[in-house]
Amino acid sequence: MVSFTAYVSLSTVSAALVIYHAFVTRQRFFTAVMFLSNSKVALAVLGNLVVAMCLVFHKLVVKVFLGSLRGIEWEMARERFTSSIMEFLLAVTIFREGFSNTFVAMFAGLLFVKVFHWLVQDRIDYLEVTPRVSFAQHLRLAALMSLLAVIDGVLLSHTAKSAVATGGASATSLFAFEYGIQLLVILRCMLRYSFTVADLATSGRWESKSTAVFYLELVADFLRLILYAAFFAAVFFNYGLPLHLVRDLYMTYRNFRNRVTEFLQFWNVNSRLDQIPDATTEDLSRTDNICIVCREEMTPEGANKKLSCGHVFHLHCLRSWLERQQACPTCRTPIA
Ligand SMILES: [Zn+2]
Ligand SMILES: [Zn+2]
Repeated sequence: MVSFTAYVSLSTVSAALVIYHAFVTRQRFFTAVMFLSNSKVALAVLGNLVVAMCLVFHKLVVKVFLGSLRGIEWEMARERFTSSIMEFLLAVTIFREGFSNTFVAMFAGLLFVKVFHWLVQDRIDYLEVTPRVSFAQHLRLAALMSLLAVIDGVLLSHTAKSAVATGGASATSLFAFEYGIQLLVILRCMLRYSFTVADLATSGRWESKSTAVFYLELVADFLRLILYAAFFAAVFFNYGLPLHLVRDLYMTYRNFRNRVTEFLQFWNVNSRLDQIPDATTEDLSRTDNICIVCREEMTPEGANKKLSCGHVFHLHCLRSWLERQQACPTCRTPIA
C-alpha cells in the first residue's frame, strides 16, 4: 500500500516537473506543448502518469462498489491478470497486422474492465456462503453488475459490427469475442446473485434453487462453448490455427461435457424423487420429527419424503443424499 502511494506521488511529481520544465524553458505555450509531445522522456513520464491515474481510478471504483477486498480476492485477480497478459502476447502474434497503439489501448481498456468481472465473480461465490451481508453492500454489488453489463453491451455492439463486417478477419473480432465472454460472465453473475437473494428472502427454503442453478450453469457453459467455437473458427479460417485458443477451447468443451454428465445425474435423482411419495402429517407424527440427515426438525409445512421403509426425510436432504448413495440413510434399505 505504501509503495503504491509512493509510486503515484512520484509519478505526479515527475510529471509536474516535466511540464514545469517545458514551460520555463520554452516560454511560449505552443512550443512547450510541442516539446511535451515530441520528447521521448516527457512522453514516458506523462504516459506513466496516465497509468498511475488509471490505477488510482481502478482502486477508487473497487472501494466504492466492493469495499475492501479480501487477500484471496486480490491474489486470484493478480493471477488472472498475469495469464491475461500472456494470452495477449500470444494474440498479438496472430493479429500482428492489426497491431497498433489503438490495439494496445483497447487491450488496456479490456483488462481494466475484466478485473471487475473477476472480482464480482469471486464476490458472488463468497456471498453464497456468507449470509450476513448488509443491504448497502447488496446495493453496491448490484449497481456494479448493472454498470458492467451496460459497458460490456455497448462495447460488444461497437466491436461486433466491425468484426462481422470483416468476417472476423480483423483485430476487433478479438475484442468482440472478449466482450461477448465478459457479458456472458456478468449475466451469469446477475442471475446467480438473484438466486442467492431469492434464497435469502425465503430464508433458505427455496426448494428448486439447485435446479435453477443447474439450468443456469448448463446454459452459460453452452453459450460459452458456442462463443469459443465461433471465435476459434473465425481465427482459423482467416489467420490459421490459433494455438493459444486450443487449450481454452478444450477446457470449455470439457467443462460443458462434465456439466451435461452432472445434469443427467441430477435429472435422474429428480425423477426418482418424484416417484417417492410425500410424507403426510400422520407419517411425521409416527416419527420423532427429526431428519437424520441434517438433525433438524421436519414440519408438515415443509417438503418431506417418505421412503418405502417408512423413514421420513427433508426433500432437500434426501436429494443431496441420493446424489451420493442409493440406500435409506437410517436403515440402509435400497431405494427403488
Ligand atoms: Zn434434513
Ligand atoms: Zn429406512
